[in-house]
Amino acid sequence: MSTQRDYYEILGISKDATESEIKKAYRKLALKYHPDKNKEEDAEEKFKEISEAYAVLSDAEKREQYDRFGHAGIDGRYSQEDIFRNADFGDFADLGDILGGIFGRGGFGGFGGFGGGQRRQGPMRGSDLRYDLGITLEQAAEGVETKINIPRAENCESCNGTGAKAGTSPKTCPTCHGSGQVTQGRKTPFGTFMSTSSCNACHGRGEIIDDPCPACKGTGKMKKVRKISVKVPKGADNGLRLKIRGEGEEGSPGAPSGDLYVVIHVEPHDKFQRMGDDIVYEQVISFATAALGGDVMVPTLHGKVKMNLKPGTQTHSILRLKGKGMPHLHGHSHGDQLVKIIVRTPTRLSNEQKDLFRKLQELDGGPDVKATKGGKGIFEKVKGAFEAGA
Ligand SMILES: [Zn+2]
Ligand SMILES: [Zn+2]
Repeated sequence: MSTQRDYYEILGISKDATESEIKKAYRKLALKYHPDKNKEEDAEEKFKEISEAYAVLSDAEKREQYDRFGHAGIDGRYSQEDIFRNADFGDFADLGDILGGIFGRGGFGGFGGFGGGQRRQGPMRGSDLRYDLGITLEQAAEGVETKINIPRAENCESCNGTGAKAGTSPKTCPTCHGSGQVTQGRKTPFGTFMSTSSCNACHGRGEIIDDPCPACKGTGKMKKVRKISVKVPKGADNGLRLKIRGEGEEGSPGAPSGDLYVVIHVEPHDKFQRMGDDIVYEQVISFATAALGGDVMVPTLHGKVKMNLKPGTQTHSILRLKGKGMPHLHGHSHGDQLVKIIVRTPTRLSNEQKDLFRKLQELDGGPDVKATKGGKGIFEKVKGAFEAGA
């Protein structure tokens, strides 16, 4: 309450005004400053001011507080919400929609009576749609353009979306005067509560169709399938939402269509595991390669890459192929491919292999691994052994 004008003065009434005089004054001013009619800049502010004055002065207890202590008696005792909570707007049911609109627009957030927000405001925007699109990891890495079929509600061509038979038109609902909502005051021992609900006469549409369009049975909508091209960017990951403006359900005539949200799902890959922009790949190598090192061809999302393994490569060690991961979404950089080495223990050995492994075991000094016996010397021996066996 920035303006602390006297409530009686605001409503233009005397200090001893009767209840009905207060109501009369409020009605007159509410209609005058109704911002949908009054285009002056401060109309909305004025409207709130008179509504607050009315809320206080029409409530016997609050009016007494105000008479005794002025604004301090109200501000100190009631929150903005409390001021309106028990206010009797019941006699202004025809203004209910106006009030709901004003307060719903955020003037008095959360104030109980008029709800707001749900109010039907002219032509209805179409609903948003969601489509779940599965792509492969390769497609996510390269980016992909694909076509999808979207069933959506479009305005009926026979009636142009009005729902009324050609040559006729819907008429404004007499019950709610086209607002689609009715506001009712309910008196309880705690005061009068205002509730806004959807108009039963027109089911919230605000208009009534006497002669429904036969093509759409009066709904004004037809289900159509549209083929839409979707461009999935490089680096797309699970849950990425692509907004395609205007491809949701078509709005009622004169209103915009909703949007289409394509939600990306990247299918699991049989070789690669994604970790953000990095790709994890498990490269299986033999005992011999682990011990001797050598070049292996590693598959990546960008083709095969030669990777050199040092002699003595341990199982579960992780090597990094720089820049061979996923492209960064909306960027130029790439993640890496992390190559996890798995040394495979052979299970079925030929006699020749068995002989060679026995020889190695002897050179190692028996079945226990003697840490001190490693080093360069052993590799030379191992190498020699394998070369001899190959
Ligand atoms: Zn209605
Ligand atoms: Zn139709």
